Amino acid sequence: MTETQFTPRVFSGAQPSGNLHLGNYLGALRNWVGMQGADYETIYCMVDLHAITVWQDPSELRKATRELCAGYIASGLDPDKSILFNQSQVPEHAQLAWIFNCVARMGWMQRMTQFKDKAGKNAQNASLGLFAYPALMAADILIYHATHVPVGDDQKQHLELTRDIATKFNHDFGVDFFPLTEPVIQGVAARVMSLRDGSKKMSKSDPSDMSRINMTDDADTISKKIRKAKTDPEALPSETDGLEDRPEARNLVNIYAALSDQSAEQVLAEVGGKQFGEFKPMLADLAVSKLSPISTEMARLMGEEAEIDRILARGAEKARAIATPILQQTYEIVGMVGAKQV
Ligand code: ATP
Ligand code: MG
Repeated sequence: MTETQFTPRVFSGAQPSGNLHLGNYLGALRNWVGMQGADYETIYCMVDLHAITVWQDPSELRKATRELCAGYIASGLDPDKSILFNQSQVPEHAQLAWIFNCVARMGWMQRMTQFKDKAGKNAQNASLGLFAYPALMAADILIYHATHVPVGDDQKQHLELTRDIATKFNHDFGVDFFPLTEPVIQGVAARVMSLRDGSKKMSKSDPSDMSRINMTDDADTISKKIRKAKTDPEALPSETDGLEDRPEARNLVNIYAALSDQSAEQVLAEVGGKQFGEFKPMLADLAVSKLSPISTEMARLMGEEAEIDRILARGAEKARAIATPILQQTYEIVGMVGAKQV
């Protein structure tokens, strides 16, 4: 079989499951913006079908989806350069996900740590959707034959599963149809940790609002959250070795590094020896200066709901133009009568 050359194409997404936070921005969104406008297509989705794998109040979900779109645009994604849309409006995602539910093996899914983390102790009571989540994620990516997926470090395992699904599909049907997608996990902030617990990642779904810096937080709230962030009593070290076994200290240094476009080594060369009482206000000032232009723009866009809805509708149309033929070709390969060659 000859190796198919797939056109470089970028896909990624975030869930409208709460407030966009600093981890989403530094681990994902900022990199999405960086990949926009180069030589390839960039497709960025608001994954509402993923959000409902845990309970979402319908009116909150509607608001969170529009707010997420505002967050994408305020962070620098341009609807004229990237395809921006919400997942439910391109039904091919869910249709391909069904095929992938029949390709993925139970054993593969049972190894997924995100399911274990989110289902917690009461896994029997989790939704079937939460368990099947990674197969839908594989479909999100492969319905566009995306070759590169910029994500935070927590999504690495799901990207490996996406490759396993593509490999098994190609093998089972004797085709070279789905690409083996590359994860793009970049920078010191690929895993921003909770401000309350350095062993847990910062998350939208964390019940404690003090655990994260939301993109919509005002300057006082950001300062307060950083001031109250868990730390240890030691001064900052001058080298990164000194951050070992100090997860909270490392997290704050990494956030500072990412926000100031430096390495952790460069930051420590500057702040080594300082106490947190001195470092935290520096970090708060930096975070406010980087985030406030974004939150101001988000608030402005949220006042233009009709415009957001127009952007999403236009994005869904463009996305479907790519997804429809790929789904029909998949149906044809699988042997479904009536699959159309489009
Ligand atoms: P939820 O808690 O509902 O899963 P989340 O905070 O994990 O929300 P997602 O919408 O699941 O956010 O993820 C969107 C993108 O942000 C993904 O690429 C993910 O890898 C990235 N991301 C999420 N949390 C972090 C984090 N703490 N640090 C770096 N990247 C992150
Ligand atoms: Mg998540």
